[in-house]
Amino acid sequence: MKKVYLETFGCQMNVSDSERVATRLAADGFEITPDEAAADVVLLNTCSVREKAEHKLFTRIGQVGKAAADRGDKKPLLGVLGCVAQLEGETLFGKTPAIDFVLGTRAVGRVSEAIDKAFGGANQFADLGEREAAYDWSVADAQRHSPYIAFVPIIEGCNKFCTYCIVPFSRGREKSLPATEIVQHVLRLRREGIREVHLIGQNVNSYRPKTDDGLENQPGATPFSKLLRAVAATGIERVKFTTSFPRDFHPDIIEAINEHENLCNWVHLPVQSGSSRILKLMRRGHTVENYLERIERIKASPRRIALTTDIIVGFPGETEADFQATLDLAEYCQFNSAYIFKYSPRPGTPAFEMPDDVSAAEKTERFLRLDNLIRFHQQKVFRAYINQTVEVLAEKISEKHSNQISGHTSCQMVVNFEGAADLLGKIVKVRILESKANTLYGKIC
Ligand code: SF4
Repeated sequence: MKKVYLETFGCQMNVSDSERVATRLAADGFEITPDEAAADVVLLNTCSVREKAEHKLFTRIGQVGKAAADRGDKKPLLGVLGCVAQLEGETLFGKTPAIDFVLGTRAVGRVSEAIDKAFGGANQFADLGEREAAYDWSVADAQRHSPYIAFVPIIEGCNKFCTYCIVPFSRGREKSLPATEIVQHVLRLRREGIREVHLIGQNVNSYRPKTDDGLENQPGATPFSKLLRAVAATGIERVKFTTSFPRDFHPDIIEAINEHENLCNWVHLPVQSGSSRILKLMRRGHTVENYLERIERIKASPRRIALTTDIIVGFPGETEADFQATLDLAEYCQFNSAYIFKYSPRPGTPAFEMPDDVSAAEKTERFLRLDNLIRFHQQKVFRAYINQTVEVLAEKISEKHSNQISGHTSCQMVVNFEGAADLLGKIVKVRILESKANTLYGKIC
């Protein structure tokens, strides 16, 4: 049995693709190994969102080759998957002879065929084709990042073309998966013991299937809110969704959350900047005022909904006043957490042509100021949970303390508490006693 080592970089969509790759490989008779040294095949599922993605890929390829040589082994078969593969395609072969094959973002379902072809003697070939007509909704024996949580893709690709972003080029245009299949899939996951599903996509709330099949006819409701209600009706214990696009964050999404307890208390709504002028340069399709209207609706919910976001500092043309507006927005919104990125130009995007005129030192300084503010509010939010009882999905034994369990609340906060392995997979009530950096600590009650 050939052994495959699979390494994943980047977002949840890549993690989800890797799960499907691993599931496909296991079904086709390959063994997935966590031990790179034992592998006959190394697969690198790449991300192109961060800076120097290609540089990092070649560094990693060099490490794989060197480790094999140090052991006196032949280099394992090496496949590059994901966004860098899709964007660079066959040009990667001209840069290193070490890569045996390249599979684009929509071709990962053909991974077994690619490995067989390479073992059969084919060398340096690329498959950047379209996905198979039917989506692979494997449930039984699926390889997952957690036995209790499943990622469920509902929409692939992106049509928004924000000026800094490479995703519409690496993942293609938006394609919503059929609602009936999604709902059936969640029902099967529930029967298999999955407690929490994450509906995922670059912009989940832009969900727009070709037909409204399987969704109840609620006049005026957006397809995403109808899907949320249909998934909630499966009775699965928790439903989370990410990422949401501000322009498409319609009021009926919050109405659905208010009405269904199993729709979780968490909205990830990337704002990117607190300056409408910069948002226009980013071509985000929303202003600060539009964004704040959505925040007001979320805050008005009787549920205690946690808000998280993404912010870019140092976008071309960002002045100190623009940045101050971002600080003001963060002060007002009081996010539970934020992913902050220092802007870096991506070849192939419109922003690449703009002068990258905020110096590296200024970007770092703005990053730190914003990070401090976000952490300050995060700690305030976290401390407000002390002496309160929250429900936590017990997901795994803590990496640092073997007598502790780690899991997430409905609002996606990490909670650690004392407990044994028999609790794993259960949703338990925990009284919060302490708050540290990014984690709450408590005692089961
Ligand atoms: S919405 Fe904008 S930032 Fe998000 S994936 Fe699409 S282009 Fe990229």
